[in-house]
Amino acid sequence: MKPDFKTLRLDRVTRRFGGTGKTTEAQQVAAVAALDGLQMDIARGEFIALLGPSGCGKSTALNCIAGLLPLSDGGIYLDDHRIDTLPPEQRGFGMVFQNYALFPHMTVAKNVGFGLLMRGVPAAEIQTRVKRALDLVQLAQHMNKLPGQLSGGQQQRVAIARAIVIEPPLILMDEPLSNLDAKLRLEMRSEIRRIHGELGRTTLYVTHDQDEALSLADRIVVMKDGKVQQIGTPPEVYGQPSNLAVARFMGYRNELVLDVVGQDAQTVTLAGPGVNLVGIPKMRLNGRAAVSIRPEEFSICADGTTPGNSISARVESVEYYGRESLFMLRTQDNTRLYVRAEGKASPGETIRVSVPADRVLAYSFEQVA
Ligand code: ATP
Repeated sequence: MKPDFKTLRLDRVTRRFGGTGKTTEAQQVAAVAALDGLQMDIARGEFIALLGPSGCGKSTALNCIAGLLPLSDGGIYLDDHRIDTLPPEQRGFGMVFQNYALFPHMTVAKNVGFGLLMRGVPAAEIQTRVKRALDLVQLAQHMNKLPGQLSGGQQQRVAIARAIVIEPPLILMDEPLSNLDAKLRLEMRSEIRRIHGELGRTTLYVTHDQDEALSLADRIVVMKDGKVQQIGTPPEVYGQPSNLAVARFMGYRNELVLDVVGQDAQTVTLAGPGVNLVGIPKMRLNGRAAVSIRPEEFSICADGTTPGNSISARVESVEYYGRESLFMLRTQDNTRLYVRAEGKASPGETIRVSVPADRVLAYSFEQVA
């Protein structure tokens, strides 16, 4: 497949599993759409993260694009060429999986060169390309070792070298860092971004880790129940989740149901027992609003002050995290509120916490159901 495509187009890509295919009503079991109408254009050179909770259809999407799973509906195009009818080897995409799947009895160099050998590339060229790929992942000095003699992070880099050595137009990665410990994961994250930048190829990266998606991707595709919830840049998805499902997934742990008690053209005033929020950016609201706020957006109000945007709540418990603490609060209408802030407060005490108006997301209440 040509490496110089301009656009990878996913056109209503759908994959269903199960279903009996039998005709009488009694025999029929509905097929479940693991991936339901994924629609997007990916430009050459982009780093795209598919993000969502377990079972949302991320791996199914990747496997459909790789050619490991046939589509139930829709099509996949590289520019004007339809590719979803081609077998995986003709698509020629590079794949990196969670379990690196290296051949244990082959040296690093042989593992990396295997795909080229299978493609009938001459030995001298294999040697040059393997060396180049191992240089890129900074493992050239380990080329004669066996995978078992390498650390987890090094093995994962061999898997990346093996994927890029065939010079694929698209590199597909399925949770490639989830087997690594936290420190290595952070290191490999920046490695992957560097390798992507140096290669200038397109990368599609599956993860359930928000931080990974936010730090790596040019654009994030947030999925839930096989459906795309939002496609946007990291600041868009982080700061302006398009619905409550995305907000929840992006770390907005607090949800309050409040009344709209006033509004102008751009903002609303929201209130509830012990709650007063003024100047909140409007998002299609009617009489009631579901409000989402991140724990880290709050500050604890000093005694005696009555700031405009505040919530009064009772402290239930406190977890100490060094500079900050995580306060578990209970609002006057019995909603749990997580507040991560500096300051002191003890269980049983009633405190006020404030939040900047532009850090409050307000959605129409109907969305909550
Ligand atoms: P995870 O992060 O846990 O890997 P995921 O987001 O990658 O999850 P998928 O593996 O794509 O999710 O699965 C999506 C849905 O499709 C799930 O409900 C899963 O049970 C179902 N599914 C996946 N593969 C099959 C299969 N071969 N047969 C039947 N159902 C399947």
